[in-house]
Amino acid sequence: MSQVRETTGTRRATARGTGIARQPRIAVIGAGFSGLGLGIRLKRAGMTDFTIFEKADNVGGTWRDNHYPGLSCDVPSRYYAWSFAPNPDWSMTFSPGSEIQAYIEKVAAKERMDDFIQYRTPITAARWQDTEWQVWSGDRDLGRFDFLISAVGFLHYPNHPDIKGLDTFAGKVVHTAEWDDSTRWAGKRVGVIGNGSTGTQVVAAITPDVQELVHFMRTPQWMVPMDKRPYRRSWKLAQRFVPGLSKRTFKFYEEAQDAFGEGFTEPGPGQDAFVQMPRDFLEAAVPDPELRAKLTPDYPPGCRRLIVSSEYYQMIQRPNAHLVRDGIVEVVPEGVRTADGTLHELDLLIVATGYDANAFIRRLGLVGRDGATVEELWKDGYRTYESVALDGFPNFFMLGGPHSPFGHFSFVLSGEHQSRYAVRWIEAWARGEYENAAPTTAAVDRFTAHQRVKIKETTWGADCVSWYQDVSGTPSLYPWSARTFRDSMSKRVVSDFDVQR
Ligand code: NAP
Repeated sequence: MSQVRETTGTRRATARGTGIARQPRIAVIGAGFSGLGLGIRLKRAGMTDFTIFEKADNVGGTWRDNHYPGLSCDVPSRYYAWSFAPNPDWSMTFSPGSEIQAYIEKVAAKERMDDFIQYRTPITAARWQDTEWQVWSGDRDLGRFDFLISAVGFLHYPNHPDIKGLDTFAGKVVHTAEWDDSTRWAGKRVGVIGNGSTGTQVVAAITPDVQELVHFMRTPQWMVPMDKRPYRRSWKLAQRFVPGLSKRTFKFYEEAQDAFGEGFTEPGPGQDAFVQMPRDFLEAAVPDPELRAKLTPDYPPGCRRLIVSSEYYQMIQRPNAHLVRDGIVEVVPEGVRTADGTLHELDLLIVATGYDANAFIRRLGLVGRDGATVEELWKDGYRTYESVALDGFPNFFMLGGPHSPFGHFSFVLSGEHQSRYAVRWIEAWARGEYENAAPTTAAVDRFTAHQRVKIKETTWGADCVSWYQDVSGTPSLYPWSARTFRDSMSKRVVSDFDVQR
């Protein structure tokens, strides 16, 4: 779609065909997993007057943007897909990134989402004006909408490290989030900076091919093994043709993932056993005590995001791999100099330093009722209503915002549950039950206060520094189980909202 659709004049006409009293005009920001899932749900609910504004020229979000070597998902394939679009063809128990992107494109095409997407349209400002949202992309006024829904995810602005001399390196420097597909590593001396999920995956993927691999690790991370196996053809056929099997398999993964997630959120013997797993894995996988000591974090397992990899420990023990814990002092044309004075001579430097994890919706330029801004609302730490709504922001919902369960639940499915919640409110509007609604400050304060207390019982509340934390040091995660989350997203507690009828 190249033009913003004229929405206002078509409202009654479109409403007539759908059986709902009036068609809301809806602006969705982002055509990744969450935004597309919401779009599909809106369409199925009979909403026809919505536009998904996408900054890039394709769907897929993080899976479109990331294509570094080794990219794969650390959530099982069958649980990292839309519940309404099972994919019998996943090649592995944990999917490679390219397959996930292909799946997103396929489902989006099948659901004809292109009819609703406006590409190359980054949202730069949106303001609540009396009764509606006015939305802009740069100086382009995109129109007025009854609802505004952010589906921008949160890991998409790369964190470029401020390392002295990085721009003087004579070889190539490439950030994983801006991967250049012409990059070659075979037979080269390669440095990798960073050991989050990304750096770990890169090291595991390229070490067998490189002449020398130097992994610069500032803070070790706890790891758990990944049961990554190819699916047999017969199993894929069974998933496609055996009635009910796909649903049962999804349920199996839901229960397994719930149990895994409760390892983080529910204190007790289960959690004690859960946090022992990464310690046992490291002990078994790395026999050399000196290397094991270098790989051992000084904070408890589960405080930061666990890295899921069965390959990294094997790779870092290969003769051509070196783990460097001394801090990076500077980059010079020949390579990287560390605090012990060593110059690590390199041909290629891969920067896997992650993202601005606190961006969330901050860069959208949102202004709510009476000039409310996100910066002001979150100046002392995140405050939300059940992860999906903000006081002062009427008819606004967030998918994948702070307090979402991105530490222990499938991000795809969490987005689906948040979408369901938003659609429930939108349907009530379409039935004429209200004009605008925002959670009350009391409800937001109550949820936030509970979140801050409960998070202390989780593994994320232990003593460590992690990108989960906000300015107050509180991890921005949903601290209860995935079951509790699903339950909370299935209810619309109207009394928690300030509703204008
Ligand atoms: P990350 O977890 O934030 O890791 C960044 C790494 O870079 C850390 O090791 C950090 O060290 C290091 N670093 C940052 N600045 C540095 C500097 N100036 N000098 C040296 N080292 C520096 O980022 P990520 O690995 O890209 O992962 C981010 C998140 O993306 C993951 O947690 C996950 O949610 C998601 N992800 C998921 C998958 C998946 O399989 N689903 C795959 C990849 C990523 P410190 O720890 O010392 O700060």
